[in-house]
Amino acid sequence: MAKTEAPRIAVLGGGPIGLEAALYGRVLDLPVTLYERGRIGEHVQRWGHVRLFSPFGMNATPLGKAAILADASDHQLPSDSECVTGKEYVASYLEPLAKTSRLKDVVHIECEVLYLGRYGLLKGDDHAESRRGHLPFRLLVREKNRERIDMADIVLDCTGTYGQHRWMGDGGIPAVGELAAEANISYGLEDILGVRRSAYAGKSVLVVGAGYSAATTVCNLAALSEEHLETSVVWLARGSGSQPIKRWANDPLRERDRLAAQANMLATRGDGNVEFHKQAILEAVETAGTDKGFHVTARCAGKPRTWTVDRIIANVGYTPGTRLHRELQVQESPITIGPAKLAAALLKQAGSDGLIIGAQGAEALGGPEPHFFVLGAKSYGRISCFFLRTGFAQIREVFAFLTGKPTLDLYQKR
Ligand SMILES: Cc1cc2nc3c(=O)[nH]c(=O)nc-3n(C[C@H](O)[C@H](O)[C@H](O)COP(=O)(O)OP(=O)(O)OC[C@H]3O[C@@H](n4cnc5c(N)ncnc54)[C@H](O)[C@@H]3O)c2cc1C
Repeated sequence: MAKTEAPRIAVLGGGPIGLEAALYGRVLDLPVTLYERGRIGEHVQRWGHVRLFSPFGMNATPLGKAAILADASDHQLPSDSECVTGKEYVASYLEPLAKTSRLKDVVHIECEVLYLGRYGLLKGDDHAESRRGHLPFRLLVREKNRERIDMADIVLDCTGTYGQHRWMGDGGIPAVGELAAEANISYGLEDILGVRRSAYAGKSVLVVGAGYSAATTVCNLAALSEEHLETSVVWLARGSGSQPIKRWANDPLRERDRLAAQANMLATRGDGNVEFHKQAILEAVETAGTDKGFHVTARCAGKPRTWTVDRIIANVGYTPGTRLHRELQVQESPITIGPAKLAAALLKQAGSDGLIIGAQGAEALGGPEPHFFVLGAKSYGRISCFFLRTGFAQIREVFAFLTGKPTLDLYQKR
């Protein structure tokens, strides 16, 4: 950094990685501001009924736990081996963390960063390594319906991907009619056995997707159908496997394996209330409006099929937002839409379990725009195998890089 005073750090996003990054900066006595457009852990709260695969010990840092216990020594953290739900994770860890004396004054909720730019420079001005690195970032911020400009010397973009869904149609674009039906389709993880129970009990539901989110949805609908016998599922997956969900040999995450095994059983057993189709391509969706059902056209293994269903749940993945850094010189992967260097490293390990892929160094998280880094789920972009413990390693690497102390590791000390 050119400046002699401590660089101002803007952390974008108050999810698990943003909060931990802000804490790391605060422990180093750096001036940090965290901007969260919703609530603490907003995205995790939206899928709060889902149980995390990874045990709590993998979802929290020694620094975070110490900060909470320093302020409230009687606070009950989950045990390291416990797999808590998203809601429990927020209540027992993320919210207490945001309220610690280390963070409470620097965390701003309901405060959205809309755009980022460089003071006095357009996207095309100067090469990243020259003047750009000596000028601060300008952040267009919206808080309580008022806009303002904040300045920062370092930006850590931890805004996740859950805020932007992908589309159901072939080639990743909307199916015919999907744009018009979007408001009536659910693209997230519905709380089918909880607050959204009455919306799904006894209904026919089309589920699209073949990841762990689709598996969760189908298993929950199958559980609902045991009590509400009319509940039925048409499950469409793009791949050719008759067991849609990938299982890992000797999976160390028991919750993940249990879910995959159950979803595969539902797909293959061929009776009950789940009808599974592989090699399925959704072509068109028609709806007459809210709660009026859908008429769906698809091709399954090349053959045309149609259904009339009450609900659609599209668990087809998420994508990073790119508006924030559009005016910066950020090299984005055309495949993952995450930072290009990280994408290259991840694509070399395509097919590996995300659990064993480590962090790839601070330089992989940005470039060429100086002092701009993408961390957390957003850094993986379209690749959905991100784990929190990788994000914690990213935080350690970014601060080691920024302080010029390659061995700096605040997580080791405690
Ligand atoms: C259903 C589900 C289950 C998962 N289970 C696990 C698991 O068991 N173990 C594991 O390690 N990982 C798991 N993951 C993956 C990953 O760890 C989580 O997605 C995690 O929430 C990522 O944390 P994050 O902080 O990077 O991003 P997020 O949690 O997505 O947080 C981003 C935050 O940024 C905010 N934001 C967005 N845009 C702006 C803006 N412009 N200005 C200000 N704020 C903004 C959002 O409101 C949000 O709070 C799971 C993911 C999902 C979807």
